[in-house]
Amino acid sequence: MHLTVYQRLKRKIGHKILIKPKLMCLDRGVLSICFDDFPRTAWTVGGSVLAQYEARATYFASGAFCNQTYLGMEQFTDRDLMEVREAGHEVGCHTYDHFSALEVTTREFKNSIEKNKRFLSERLGCELIESFAFPYNHVSLQSKIAVASQFRTARGVGTSLNFNWIDLSEVAGINLSLTEAGGYSAGQPGFQDIAKLIAQAAQHQKWLVVYTHDVSDNPTEHGCLTRGLENLLIRAKQAGLAIRPVKEVIAA
Ligand SMILES: [Zn+2]
Repeated sequence: MHLTVYQRLKRKIGHKILIKPKLMCLDRGVLSICFDDFPRTAWTVGGSVLAQYEARATYFASGAFCNQTYLGMEQFTDRDLMEVREAGHEVGCHTYDHFSALEVTTREFKNSIEKNKRFLSERLGCELIESFAFPYNHVSLQSKIAVASQFRTARGVGTSLNFNWIDLSEVAGINLSLTEAGGYSAGQPGFQDIAKLIAQAAQHQKWLVVYTHDVSDNPTEHGCLTRGLENLLIRAKQAGLAIRPVKEVIAA
């Protein structure tokens, strides 16, 4: 999405200011896997891979996508949402309309969150939704403040691990599409070395958060290869990382 100079400035200020600083001390490295929006394959394919490795993830749903096709991809259904929850995964909140915090007013952004919370509670009961993810990873200072008052944790984008002082209003998530799990290779711009990040998380008890969208043998540029997700889980387990949904890491 093209951002104006003003929007980029807003985003920069948003990134700079910590709203909910927290000192994070883990007794072992942890991996959290997030699926945003979410396309059906995140559950139908990704969910099967996770089950195979007894791993649970966080699915950030946008209500407006339910039972729809978005960017040519089938999105989650009501039934998928129930199944995700029943399988023990965390359901997190995106904005209902998939609004970017930089594209709409703070009021519109907040209303879209409220609408999504209602959408989720109508389907999942009164379950408390504790985690949020910023659509497009766009943040502004106002949106961070709004989100921080409603959710325990919010995930943004980053290129590094979470450790020591972290900002619960913008936990750094690494885009799996830019790792070999997404079919990306060293030398391509923005490449993230997931093997190295896993090793660092394990060695120094850090929190590795990754996010993706669709999962298939032929994913979109925002998705992840089925075997890529599988390799991620194998590597994380071999390194001794715990694999937990976002809210469980924070609760611990
Ligand atoms: Zn999204």
